Amino acid sequence: MPDKPSRNEEEYFARVEAERAARLRQSAEIEAQMAERRSHFMKCPRCGADLKIEHYSGIEVERCPECHGLWFDEGEAQRLVELNAASGVMGGTFRAIVEAVRGTGKSRKS
Ligand SMILES: [Zn+2]
Repeated sequence: MPDKPSRNEEEYFARVEAERAARLRQSAEIEAQMAERRSHFMKCPRCGADLKIEHYSGIEVERCPECHGLWFDEGEAQRLVELNAASGVMGGTFRAIVEAVRGTGKSRKS
């Protein structure tokens, strides 16, 4: 009988400690995920080089100077579609981008 409260106490502290350890583990995992994400910021998803921000017809794109990949986020792609709907600029913009990447055209970087 005197043993029972003590065992309950041990179980309680063991549970509290296990919960504390689980919270610490979760915090460490979240921090590791955040660090991993930060390490990829503005890096080319194909080759890992630093992306350069360039502007074509007022649209911002991220271009990789190593593998020449082009990256648009949702807003940038939507802006390109809207510009094309308004003025058919899409073909001209893509041509300017491709020529800039190849180094064959007049750069419109800004
Ligand atoms: Zn790349």
